[in-house]
Amino acid sequence: MVMYNKVALIGLGLIAGSMSLAMRRGKLAGEIVGYARSQETRNIAREINLVDRVCDTAEEAVQDADLIVLAVPVGAMGPVMEAIAPHLKKGAVVTDVGSVKRSVFDAVIPHMPDGCHFIGCHPMAGTEHSGPHSGFATLFDKRWCLVVPPEDADQAEVDRICDFWRGIGADIEIMEPDHHDLVCAVVSHAPHLIAYTMVGVADDLRRVTDQEVIKFSAAGFRDFTRIAASDPTMWRDVFLTNKDATLEILGRFTEELFALQRAIRTGDGDTLFDYFTRTRAIRRGIIEAGQDTSAPDFGRTPTKSE
Ligand code: NAP
Repeated sequence: MVMYNKVALIGLGLIAGSMSLAMRRGKLAGEIVGYARSQETRNIAREINLVDRVCDTAEEAVQDADLIVLAVPVGAMGPVMEAIAPHLKKGAVVTDVGSVKRSVFDAVIPHMPDGCHFIGCHPMAGTEHSGPHSGFATLFDKRWCLVVPPEDADQAEVDRICDFWRGIGADIEIMEPDHHDLVCAVVSHAPHLIAYTMVGVADDLRRVTDQEVIKFSAAGFRDFTRIAASDPTMWRDVFLTNKDATLEILGRFTEELFALQRAIRTGDGDTLFDYFTRTRAIRRGIIEAGQDTSAPDFGRTPTKSE
């Protein structure tokens, strides 16, 4: 069912591309237009028919659009919003898909024209790939999309964007911006920083060769490398804009790490065993909630019957 007549995607990377393909699958938009900053990305988007029409300026893309999706790195949201604001039609809804919400609110809302609506969103789905080739229609299926409305949001528009994300395949949870940023610091931002660090440590360690690191990576390191291959621009912006929540979680992480370090040094096996028992239960909870596969090694290791 068509939910917005014209949807304008600003940015044509993993998230916007996947949204376009999922919108087509669900017939959620009358027309999908897109804009990306570089000519190269716009050309690729045209070649692979990622959207119905690729525009050469953001201003042209948002003309007469009913829904505008800001799908650029968090640090670019404010300047992009400032540029498109004079070209929005009355009643248009602007949303973003940024991984941080408070700083996007602060950067975008001051530019919102009267009579238009802003509702923040954050689909909790992604891969380590980026760019116009990386999108796929099923990315958001059964994943959470956190919908973050400003306090004075129009309830009918909040309901409409929730239905839109359900049409894309996602489950919805409404959240307040600061809480969103804290939750994401725990489940996404701090883990990414830790993965980046672990891969950096392995790279720096001269007593273990790079070849050994790659050869034996299935012992655990491989999963860090996937996360640490994520887009550098996007993640730089996440840490610069979700500074307080990330630093709070990293502070707690460091304390726990020291506690485990102490348990190892003092031979305190009970502490280690109890800790790992608690964390194992969290993994089981994620599987029961349908957020990951129960297959050993995420299904990468063939089972005997295969
Ligand atoms: P992406 O694949 O790297 O695509 C980013 C797009 O933004 C590209 O089309 C790029 O254009 C454009 N862009 C970059 N800087 C710009 C600027 N200064 N002005 C205008 N356009 C600009 O990124 P993505 O993964 O789709 O991420 C987009 C947003 O979704 C980010 O805010 C990110 O935090 C959020 N998000 C990402 C994930 C994830 O796992 N990847 C998950 C949830 C939310 P060019 O190609 O022409 O440079």
